[in-house]
Amino acid sequence: MKPLNHTVTEFKESIFSTMTKLAIDHEAINLSQGFPDFDGPQWIIDLAKNAMDQGNKLGYVGKNQYAPSSGILPLREAISKNYKRFYNLDFDPASEIVVTNGATEAIFCACMALINPGDEVIVFEPFYDSYLASLQMAGARVVPVTLKAPNFSFDSEELIAAINPKTKMVILNNPHNPTGKIFSSEEIKSIAELARKFDFYILSDEVYEFLTYETSHTPTACFEDLANRTITISSTGKTFGLTGWKIGWACGPKEIIKAIHNVHQFTTFCVAHPLQVAMAEALNNMDQYLIEFKADYLKKRNTLVKGLKECGFNILNPQGTYFAMALLPEGENDVDYCKRLIVEKKVATIPTSAFYLKSNEGSKMIRFCFAKKDETLKNAIKNLTL
Ligand code: PMP
Ligand code: GLN
Repeated sequence: MKPLNHTVTEFKESIFSTMTKLAIDHEAINLSQGFPDFDGPQWIIDLAKNAMDQGNKLGYVGKNQYAPSSGILPLREAISKNYKRFYNLDFDPASEIVVTNGATEAIFCACMALINPGDEVIVFEPFYDSYLASLQMAGARVVPVTLKAPNFSFDSEELIAAINPKTKMVILNNPHNPTGKIFSSEEIKSIAELARKFDFYILSDEVYEFLTYETSHTPTACFEDLANRTITISSTGKTFGLTGWKIGWACGPKEIIKAIHNVHQFTTFCVAHPLQVAMAEALNNMDQYLIEFKADYLKKRNTLVKGLKECGFNILNPQGTYFAMALLPEGENDVDYCKRLIVEKKVATIPTSAFYLKSNEGSKMIRFCFAKKDETLKNAIKNLTL
């Protein structure tokens, strides 16, 4: 038989699937894959149910039929309105926003839309695993720049050395998974300066935009001169605790969004229609919810960080996201350590070496997810104390 596509056949199983399976097999508390062990708000779920039940009764196109390929207009309008309200950013709902199956699809479509084989893309490591796969499918050469613990700042010299005339794009994830870092204005400004000088795009993955603690989030597109070369990607999975709904989007200059839509149109065409109806309404009515959401997660973060410190972990306090990193004792290895935690302590975490290409820093850290009920966090800490 002729060989299959050599790029995709070499992909390994995502570390998130691997660790969740191990957690189930060992009946361990799952603080590995990033998803809440509780549901998002019932009122949003009811909105989706209602959209399904109403079906054709709601309007010209039945809500159980295909949605417009770019996303239903009320959802694109709600997204646009929130960017204006929260960040004073202008995205035209008609031409500068495309709704995708989660941020993951937006990332894939953006990579396909912007990259020609042989282009280089700089990725800060540790990175969310889909960046590498999407870039490889698009034929990019991936150039890692390491964020160094404990602050996870990058070395400007290393970044500058990574840039050359083939550099097409930099992927920035802010707030950052898995480190919980929020990039400082100075850091983003220094990337902005390089983007102008060397003419590259910035894909800014901001799915944790509302999961910030002491500092608030500023989208990359808000920085001077960056709006015209930034693709802003986000989704509702984390914000509403509905990761299984996979409602995401990409926003940016209309030529770029058109190209991203071209890819989206021929990969999935559109996103689950009734879920879009619900999300449009949720995004229009999220202010009170956000206050409670942020307070809840702040409490969860503090519970986990304090609890793990008391268990003797060298835990790094995250500024954003729902993850916290722990530095392992000298001589330990992340994969072996995670396996031991699952088997002996019945707690599943993520070995972070999976998020690095260049540095071996990842083998010295593990990631905990605190998007869990207080009871789950307390039980995990109890197990780890024993
Ligand atoms: N980007 C980052 C940094 C993530 O952690 C995740 C994962 N949950 C995603 C993108 C994917 O988001 P979605 O579930 O909306 O596809
Ligand atoms: N982003 C989530 C995490 O970091 C997982 C998403 C996924 O499983 N694809 O754990």
